[in-house]
Amino acid sequence: MAKVNETSDVQNVTDRATDGDSAQPRIIDIPNRVSVRHLAEIIPATPVAIIKQLMRNGIMANINQVIDYKTAAEIIGSFGYQAHLKPGKTEGLSPEAKKRQRIAVETSGPLQIRPPIVTVMGHVNHGKTRLLDTIRKTKVMDSEAGHITQHIGAYQVEVNGKRISFLDTPGHEAFTAMRARGAQVTDITVLVVAADDGVMPQTLEAIDHARAAGVPIVVAINKIDKDNANPELVKQQLADAGLLIEEWGGDVICVPISAKEQIGIPELLENILLLAEMENLQVNPAEMPFGIVIEAGLDKSRGPLATVLVQRGTLRLGDTIVVGTTWGRVKAMFNYSGKRVRKAEPSTPVQILGPDNVPKVGDVLTVAGSEHQARALVQQHQSDMAAELAMSGRSMNLSNIYDQVSKGHVKELNIILKVDVQGSIEPIRNSLEQLSNKEVQVKVIHSGTGNVTESDVMLAIASKGLIIGFNTSSEQGAKRMADMENISIRYYDVIYSLADDVSKALKGMLEPVFVEVIFGRAEVRAVFPGRKKHKVAGVYVTDGKINAGASVRVKRGDQIISETTANSIRRFKDDVKEVSSGFECGVELKDYYEFQTSDMLEFFRIEKHQ
Ligand code: GDP
Repeated sequence: MAKVNETSDVQNVTDRATDGDSAQPRIIDIPNRVSVRHLAEIIPATPVAIIKQLMRNGIMANINQVIDYKTAAEIIGSFGYQAHLKPGKTEGLSPEAKKRQRIAVETSGPLQIRPPIVTVMGHVNHGKTRLLDTIRKTKVMDSEAGHITQHIGAYQVEVNGKRISFLDTPGHEAFTAMRARGAQVTDITVLVVAADDGVMPQTLEAIDHARAAGVPIVVAINKIDKDNANPELVKQQLADAGLLIEEWGGDVICVPISAKEQIGIPELLENILLLAEMENLQVNPAEMPFGIVIEAGLDKSRGPLATVLVQRGTLRLGDTIVVGTTWGRVKAMFNYSGKRVRKAEPSTPVQILGPDNVPKVGDVLTVAGSEHQARALVQQHQSDMAAELAMSGRSMNLSNIYDQVSKGHVKELNIILKVDVQGSIEPIRNSLEQLSNKEVQVKVIHSGTGNVTESDVMLAIASKGLIIGFNTSSEQGAKRMADMENISIRYYDVIYSLADDVSKALKGMLEPVFVEVIFGRAEVRAVFPGRKKHKVAGVYVTDGKINAGASVRVKRGDQIISETTANSIRRFKDDVKEVSSGFECGVELKDYYEFQTSDMLEFFRIEKHQ
């Protein structure tokens, strides 16, 4: 495990907690059960700082781990706060709304309703972009002459004196990609379904992604201007997908619209506000500012630019900010219409000029009291990232599920199921969900036909889930991403063995499996005569590192030409044990000499996974 910074994180938050009143620790209301992520937001601290503190107390936890009040009280005690048990009246609210209520309760000072942050999702070509354009054109707040609306990743509209923030990147992929980076910015999802096309695969995907995040959905049935529009059929299909609209006795708001003809747009916006009201989006604008980067880039003349969605507190011109692993001073701020602003209140998107370097999307923005503290926070973020990297190895898979369940770390096994034919989904879902027991609930959070995609992997990262492919495989990009992020994808072609494996895994009885790990790749750039009549491949190591003595596969395009071992590796006439990526060397294989330039050598080993 990477070395983690043991010193500064606790202290920093303590300083903040007791700001202006160093004798009295601040009292914070903590619910009976709270996840690490939520606790981090309540205090506030980074989730990693909380996880590290839990580790010091002998508890291995992940960001979604739910801990009890007693443990939470101990943890926040070490951050200089005092816990108070206050169960709120939260029945009937979404998990996000419950979280907000907890945050609102503990913040002192006048509370203010903040605008909801809305993401538009739905199947391709159902009109997401057109809807965002129509809303922007008809409703943007800032219609002052001379200001051209610029795309900064989000914009705000005003409806009956109330504001709504829209994220300008539609689609569940972007939404879940943010969640996978640990940032949840969306309060409400607008699910666009074209009335002439109905519920399609990506509609279902979007529903599952919003549900996995606990974000409420408003349905917009679009394109009702078209002759072949059939909104009633869409409602039926939504019900089949488990989304029951109000008209049908459910609680999902549904608004018929035409993004093209501007029909139903005011009604849609009013309903979004209605739902927002129920979600109780209260914040204290005097809190420490906290935001998430939703877009970032380098402007040739102005330097690093970041669009930040301020989630809490008020960000002001001149603030010393820490954004991910960079910092700076807010030199200028612009709203979505390009107008200079001096402050950004909660839920407001602003483009910021000032960070030293370009931050990453999903990075957290916080405000530091001084340059000195900013530098310390950057260092802390860097060590947090190293710790996060080390912890990503502990993502969910069938080999560690028993361990995690028996230690009480996991209560849910989230599964993403991809199959070849629709008919396989229900029997597999049933046989999997039947395996739930009192310690762990097995949940298929998303299912669909086709190969495993990057969006599936993203959902697995965001939901700490694992992926099961039945009679299907993975897209190249998805496989690469899963490898990098340590997400487990298991493939089956018999329902019985699939259910049997999961069942055994839950009981800790899984047989070991043997997994191939490719640890280095090298490209043949030249072929030389070697000892005896052998040929030596002059290679450039493109990924990882390569070892003498290791198993090697020679590939020409997709074709496997030979599987053998590396007899020797030479650099400048010397035999060496290993060569890292970015270097050239000569490789001699056992019993294989027919190299051609552009052949790839894959160095691999077989690992036993319990
Ligand atoms: P996206 O892929 O979901 O972002 O879909 P777009 O917004 O790009 O829309 C796909 C196509 O449908 C475009 O040609 C739009 O002009 C068209 N479209 C979108 N909304 C409507 C609508 O309400 N009525 C009609 N007739 N066409 C629409």
